[in-house]
Amino acid sequence: MLIFKKIYDLQHYLSIARKKGQMVGFAPTMGALHAGHIQLILEAKKQCQVVVASIFVNPTQFNDPKDLEKYPRTPGKDLEMLLAAGCDAVFMPEVSEMYPPGKDLTLHLDFGPMDQVMEGEFRPGHFNGMATVVKRLLDIVQPHHLYMGQKDYQQLTIVRRMLYLLGAPIALEMVATMREPDGLAMSSRNMRLTPDMRAAAPVIYQVLSGVVERLQGGGATVTELEQSAMQALAEAGLRPEYVDVVDAYTLAPVAEWRPDTAAVVCAAAWAGEVRLIDNVVV
Ligand code: AMP
Repeated sequence: MLIFKKIYDLQHYLSIARKKGQMVGFAPTMGALHAGHIQLILEAKKQCQVVVASIFVNPTQFNDPKDLEKYPRTPGKDLEMLLAAGCDAVFMPEVSEMYPPGKDLTLHLDFGPMDQVMEGEFRPGHFNGMATVVKRLLDIVQPHHLYMGQKDYQQLTIVRRMLYLLGAPIALEMVATMREPDGLAMSSRNMRLTPDMRAAAPVIYQVLSGVVERLQGGGATVTELEQSAMQALAEAGLRPEYVDVVDAYTLAPVAEWRPDTAAVVCAAAWAGEVRLIDNVVV
């Protein structure tokens, strides 16, 4: 496995692979890797001859400086895990390599309401920063396939829209959420949970699964289900920010669910000092 810190060196390596006709798969991450991230690599290996991961804690997508400061960093373990998974190349740039001083790389795309709802409402500027870094990484790596997790459903939907708006010839592959045995979605942030909050956190997945079941069962309105889910999260000791049933493609609120509605139930909740998100596709 090769480790690159400089764009030029990574691009030189990839240009040779492309000349050989090899397919390039790419999984961007912020490090502190777990089995969910590794699943992206394993899926990429099924389709691509060259698999590239990036580890870059992107400062522009953190609206809260404390969150950026506290974001876990475990580079040694990350590299061991990527090597064991059969990753071919890792891109670990410095901030100055990604954002050269004096050069404004901010992406200006209109995502409509898609980046204003849910995470967009509670983390202003987050998706603009995320789209900017993903665009920058895609320009550098120029992959054939891009691998992202369902765990960050809104992020994936916005990236899908971005690829469409840019006319980028990249196939976006969604990888299902990897969970702990008790249902908690794997996340780099989980390692910051206190024992009490770790014990409470699986309720998020239980509550979201319950909403899906009750939607499909009929009898309750979407609003009633969202409200009772918020209440259940609060009763379990979490501080929920939202539970929203949204259209799976546009992320518009679903007012009334019908069996042919492609929807996703998304939630964000604080477990002590740690903000967790999860979703279940209906
Ligand atoms: P992050 O390092 O949190 O920015 O995540 C990097 C990528 O890994 C994103 O595409 C995430 O959606 C994906 N990912 C994170 N957690 C999981 C998980 N539990 N299962 C599957 N993919 C995940």
